[in-house]
Amino acid sequence: MIVLRLKPIADIRSMVERHARVLVVGCNTCAAVSLAGGETEVETLVETLRLGASRSACQTEYTGAMIQRQCEPEFVDKLEAGGYDAVLSLGCGAGVAFLANTESVPVYPALDTLFIGAAKGHASWQAECSACGSCVLGETAGICPTTRCAKGIMNGPCGGVKDGRCELGDRDCAWVQIYDRLDEQGRGDDFDGLGSTKDNSVNSMTCEWDMNADSGGSK
Ligand code: SF4
Ligand code: SF4
Repeated sequence: MIVLRLKPIADIRSMVERHARVLVVGCNTCAAVSLAGGETEVETLVETLRLGASRSACQTEYTGAMIQRQCEPEFVDKLEAGGYDAVLSLGCGAGVAFLANTESVPVYPALDTLFIGAAKGHASWQAECSACGSCVLGETAGICPTTRCAKGIMNGPCGGVKDGRCELGDRDCAWVQIYDRLDEQGRGDDFDGLGSTKDNSVNSMTCEWDMNADSGGSK
């Protein structure tokens, strides 16, 4: 699932305070599950922004709303944003972008989109994928170097590894983990062949995918 985090309130206020009427829109799918953009979070953010506005004599009015998914027209079409001067989205970057494409007023992100992750525990997720469009997990024992290596390199470990830990941030070295898991699976010899397996010409940042197209796949 896409994991999201609320931006600092001061940053949100500075984006939207110039507008008189702001519609705060949650997304009832990934954003709700990651406890960043569900109904409760929309209500809390609206109340927080109203309180901040009243304390600073700001005239901005905030109203909350929910839609099921901000990235699909069948749901976005039901959003009643008329009468508002701006939309504040509690969706992922795709949701914000889709709303910005469909609404005539400015759309602002209230959340930062962190990664595609898997649950570790309650309200805790592990980054597993960055949607690069050319998956190598089959070769890397299910550990993504693009996502889990601090430098995103494909031929680690680099010289910054020490005792299995990465020189950058509080994390284990992804490439040591890849080697260890391949070894555990009896595939340790495959490690030497890694490093040239990733097709970086395919990048989800620049491609779109039409499942209905004859050829299918990326274009
Ligand atoms: S290699 Fe690409 S598609 Fe595969 S998990 Fe990593 S970022 Fe995601
Ligand atoms: S120490 Fe490992 S995880 Fe950190 S940047 Fe180097 S290869 Fe990547």
